[in-house]
Amino acid sequence: MNPESYVADHVRGLPRSGIRDFFAIVSEMPHAISLGIGEPDFITPWKIREASIFALEKGRTSYTDNRGLLSLRKEISRYVSSFFGPDYDPADEILVTVGVSEAIDVSLRAILNPGDKVLYHEPCYVSYAPSVTLAFGEAIPVGTSPENSFALDPEAFERAWEPGCKVLLLNFPTNPTGGTADREKLERLANFAVEKDLIVISDEIYAELTYEGEHFSLASLPGMKERTLLLHGFSKAFAMTGFRVGFACGPDWLIDAMMKIHQYCMMCAPILSQEAAIEALTHGSPEVERMKEQYCRRRDFVVRRFNEMGLSCHLPRGSFYAFPEVAATGLNEVDFCHRLLREKEVAVVPGTAFGSHGKGHVRVSFSTSYENLVEATDRMESFLARLASEGKSEEAV
Ligand code: PLP
Repeated sequence: MNPESYVADHVRGLPRSGIRDFFAIVSEMPHAISLGIGEPDFITPWKIREASIFALEKGRTSYTDNRGLLSLRKEISRYVSSFFGPDYDPADEILVTVGVSEAIDVSLRAILNPGDKVLYHEPCYVSYAPSVTLAFGEAIPVGTSPENSFALDPEAFERAWEPGCKVLLLNFPTNPTGGTADREKLERLANFAVEKDLIVISDEIYAELTYEGEHFSLASLPGMKERTLLLHGFSKAFAMTGFRVGFACGPDWLIDAMMKIHQYCMMCAPILSQEAAIEALTHGSPEVERMKEQYCRRRDFVVRRFNEMGLSCHLPRGSFYAFPEVAATGLNEVDFCHRLLREKEVAVVPGTAFGSHGKGHVRVSFSTSYENLVEATDRMESFLARLASEGKSEEAV
């Protein structure tokens, strides 16, 4: 018996997440400082946790409507309208999902026929290309570059377009680069989507964590609401990763198609998490602001330190990641991360874990304490000094 032959071809061919492998090593190192994990270091604000506890106490332990609690969908509608702009009908234009992860998967499965093409930018969140593959689509990466602070580049998308493209998959602010897009670029992307008749899946999960200017949603542009699926969730800004709750807002025909898959594979998001999500949307904004201030202070610190020590690093406009360039050290990004971890016990993630366009960079998450960032950047500086002295002794030989 060959067990491998029982695994579907398109699943067997999927790469393992580069991040998970790396962090299996980190978990064995008790003194390592991890700047690798893509989740807030803050505990979910107390009032939000309390809402879940109250719900449990009241015996709210059932399934919910497949679409999510109506009370939550109403709050989502209100919040999205005030924060992102467009109005969505809680009855049939909103689906509560098990995190944005589920929304990405279900939306691609609902839209793609085998072989349909998806344009997306790289470096990007690790699940995009695998999710397209799992939906039998073809993923077409479009690079963003450090010269433009990894901002979304409409012209690059226009050049990459080819017959068979059906979806434009975007994330801004972007994991892992902190890049984003200004209104002018978004307008050009919107025109491109209309001209090529593309459905846009717009993952705006880091929207509240925008430090430069205001977040501007693609769905709020004229003509875009009917062809855009806006994805958002509670994991990042509200520090609720473990609650596993997110949502999709979009045209009723698409939400309906997604519902068909969601009802069979998930049924509904956990009710206790949905109760917490209501509290997050109604009273959580001051806590979000408090956390955002901390992230912003940490961002300014790490970016300054990297540039001082000779690692060129653009200013991330949003998210909680910096994406410095390490190519100048003479090491590729994978060797850089492995040696930094072994020799200085600091964990950062190779940029290529987020696609080949992340070559020569590493992702540094500043969702850890300021003190940890001070210590980690000091260790990185002494690592760079060691690399430089190795370089000199090689020259001498
Ligand atoms: N989208 C992006 C861009 C992310 O960075 C992440 C998590 O890191 C997700 C989606 C998944 O979020 P969730 O916890 O809501 O599933």
